[in-house]
Order: sequence, then structure tokens, then C-alpha cells
Amino acid sequence: MRIVMLGGPGSGKSTYSKFLTKEFNIPHVYTGDMMRDLAQQDTPTGRKVKSALDKGEFVDTKIVLDTLKKRLSRKDTERGYVLDGFPRSMEQVKEMEERTIGYDHVIYLDVAEKEVIRRLTSRGRADDKPEIIKNRIKVYKKQTQPVVDYYRDKLIKIKAVGGEEIEDIATDIIKQIKDKDERI
Ligand code: ADP
Repeated sequence: MRIVMLGGPGSGKSTYSKFLTKEFNIPHVYTGDMMRDLAQQDTPTGRKVKSALDKGEFVDTKIVLDTLKKRLSRKDTERGYVLDGFPRSMEQVKEMEERTIGYDHVIYLDVAEKEVIRRLTSRGRADDKPEIIKNRIKVYKKQTQPVVDYYRDKLIKIKAVGGEEIEDIATDIIKQIKDKDERI
């Protein structure tokens, strides 16, 4: 069970990833957390990553890929994973295909920009400052929207406008994955 989570900043990718890891008993492979960890290191790579995070820019694909490959080589991913935060650009889709990082399901969390801004401004993570948020949304539209379009025919699209219960949305995602699994 290899699941890819797509969605903009503040779309709830990691929130729902956690429900999926529990339901299917597979690890949460979360590139955002990996990059925040790397940014703590006082090394050339660490500093480079930190500078990208501070600007709301993407980290170099090579750095993300190296970290990701290492993570995916661990035994606990043998039965699958919830891949959260990758691929984020068409360049990464290409790398993913070439390196045979596989997937069985792609979930796309479709959330209105107004709701995204509301959520991110109330979350308070270090890179959730208005200017950085604006840039992350801009980068998302330019780089990640093409990835969503690319997977259009395979996607499980989840609309979360706000106001819905998180548990209800999680239940819906799980149900749709199971339904689709039976049809494959
Ligand atoms: P969000 O999606 O809410 O912005 P994430 O925790 O998924 O937050 O990612 C935080 C940051 O980590 C991104 O803004 C980006 O700088 C970096 N990052 C995470 N995944 C990738 C990736 N696949 N490629 C490049 N940068 C990434």
C-alpha cells in the first residue's frame, strides 16, 4: 500500500497522512519534516536547506531525493508508505519514475486558497509567516499544480473546504482507497 499525498501548503496532507498510517499500518514518509530536521544541522547542506525553508522556496531536488532514498531503503517501508510532500514538481515526478519510487494511490486534497491562508496563519510553524506563506502558495501553483494535472486520471480527489470534521474526511479517504483497491 503505497500512497502519495498531494495538496498545497495547509491542505491537511500530514494530518490525513497520520490517519492513513494508522489504518494501513505503514510509515509516514514526510519530506517536510526531513527537511526541517536537516535544517537544524550546521553543515553546508543544513544551511542550504534552512535558507530555502526560510524563504518558502523548494529545497534542491537532489537533497530531497538523497534523503528520501535513504528513508525508503529502510525495512519498515517494505509493505508500503504514505509519501507526504513528494513529488512536488514535474522534475521530481521524472526522478520518481526513473528511480522506480512506486505508488498505488494518489490522494489530492483540494482546498480553497482563502481557507489555506486562514489555516496557515493560525498554525504558527516557523515558516508560517505571511510573506513566506505567500511565497509557498506561489511556488505551489507554479510547480506542484502541474503534478496534480499529470496524475489527473488516477487521483482520488478530496474536497475539504473547511468546516467538515477531520475524522469524517479521513474516513472518506480510507473508504475511497479501499474501494479503488478492490477494483484494481
Ligand atoms: P507545507 O506543504 O505545509 O508547505 P511541508 O512540511 O510539506 O509543508 O514542507 C515544508 C517545506 O519543506 C517546503 O516549503 C519546502 O521548502 C520543503 N520541502 C518539502 N518537501 C519538498 C520537496 N519534495 N521538494 C522540495 N522541497 C521540499
